[in-house]
Amino acid sequence: MLPSSILSLSEKIKLLPGIGTKSSQKMSIDLLQISDLDFKELILTLQNTRSKIRFCKNCGFFAEKNLCEICSSESRNPRQICIVEKVTDVISLEKSEIYKGTYHVLNRLISPLDNVFAQDTTINELVERISSLKKKNSPIELILFLKSSFSSDATVAYIKEVLKHKKLSVSITKMAQGLPLCYNPDTLDSATIVRALEDRRKA
Ligand SMILES: [Zn+2]
Repeated sequence: MLPSSILSLSEKIKLLPGIGTKSSQKMSIDLLQISDLDFKELILTLQNTRSKIRFCKNCGFFAEKNLCEICSSESRNPRQICIVEKVTDVISLEKSEIYKGTYHVLNRLISPLDNVFAQDTTINELVERISSLKKKNSPIELILFLKSSFSSDATVAYIKEVLKHKKLSVSITKMAQGLPLCYNPDTLDSATIVRALEDRRKA
């Protein structure tokens, strides 16, 4: 019963993860009811943000320059690298305000059954990053903050194998203690993350 232009807007909004037909139709209708001025500003802000935002050359998090705020901050330890799957996992850990290292966003986890292989992730970039840090010859720690799954196990096994093959020795820890057996970074609260980070152990 809705006009076709509203239905096509709603289809576009459905491109966002986690938005179903009902929510996308509601958002379309709400968008059409804000003032012309607010609507224009919203479109401009969307365009500006989209054109300004890129991904950090070092870690893959959101940035407005070559490096993100975390990688360019002198108060962060570049030799401590927390491995996450998605940019939103960085936000989860940052909310805990305890972590002072840096990150590496893999974008995907290796999953041969879904045709996702190492080259579809940023593991190569991670290895290059570790190689160049190694030139300074002080210890490097990789902290695993990945949801429990076969794909994360396959990804970690691959990372370990490549590092071994390249003779890059790093300490690898995981945030296991205090976390539920099967966890997802998206659903953890800050207090649990703080405990898990403090009690991390060798992976
Ligand atoms: Zn960065």
